[in-house]
Amino acid sequence: MKILNTKVELVREINQLKSKGLSIGLVPTMGALHQGHLSLIGESKKRANITVASIFVNPTQFDNQEDLVNYPKPIEEDIRKLESAGCDILFNPEVEEMYKDHEVWDYEVGDLDTKLEGELRPGHYKGVTQIVYKLFKAVNPDIAFFGQKDYQQFLVISKMVKDLALHIKLQLCDIVREPDGLAMSSRNVRLNKEERDISVVLYKALEYIKQHYTELSLQELQQNAARFFEKNPLLNLEYVKICDKESLDLLQEKSPNGAIALVACFVGKVRLIDNMIIP
Ligand code: AMP
Repeated sequence: MKILNTKVELVREINQLKSKGLSIGLVPTMGALHQGHLSLIGESKKRANITVASIFVNPTQFDNQEDLVNYPKPIEEDIRKLESAGCDILFNPEVEEMYKDHEVWDYEVGDLDTKLEGELRPGHYKGVTQIVYKLFKAVNPDIAFFGQKDYQQFLVISKMVKDLALHIKLQLCDIVREPDGLAMSSRNVRLNKEERDISVVLYKALEYIKQHYTELSLQELQQNAARFFEKNPLLNLEYVKICDKESLDLLQEKSPNGAIALVACFVGKVRLIDNMIIP
């Protein structure tokens, strides 16, 4: 695997590969890689000739400085994991490589920025679109892979690709879970034993909604799911909602198009999110 740290080197490498007619798949990450990330690498290897992973802890998408400072950065281990997953190129730039002083990014995220994660993490999607756009420009991928774990992020990026008429296909990939159901996340390593054990409640609440979807009302489903979080003082629920899959508006009535249940919750100091599509 080639490891590149600058855009100039990356663009040179990609141009050479493209001139040979090879297609490029991009998997953007913030590192601290787990099986969820590696499943995206696996998808890219199936769909593209060359797989590029990026590892960049993007400061502009953090609304919480403590979260940014504590974000795990096990780069040596990440490199080993990418190599054994068969990744071809790792792009691992420093912050100064990606951002100049006083840079303006005025892409208007729109309606999605006022809902769920957008509402609770002001500026988050502005930062996400800013860095993903830069990565798209540098890597010029034919296809880019994102996890359903960050479903709203996928919708935001899909909208940006459309708005800016970028010629990049996007693929949404399934959520990879721990054996007990907890969605894999780089933040899970920050949970202590007690927090880790209780974290499965996010998955259980979503499963509850899915299991009882046909027999209970939307209101009952959301209220009952919220009760899962009430008893434990380590848990601080931000939302558990059933929404339209496209707009992420709160669903007013059950729709034949299906729905998505989404949850965000602090477990101790660690904020976790998860979701489940209701067929
Ligand atoms: P991150 O490093 O958290 O920014 O995630 C990089 C990419 O991996 C994003 O597209 C995430 O949605 C995806 N991802 C994170 N966790 C998982 C998971 N458990 N299963 C599948 N994809 C994931």
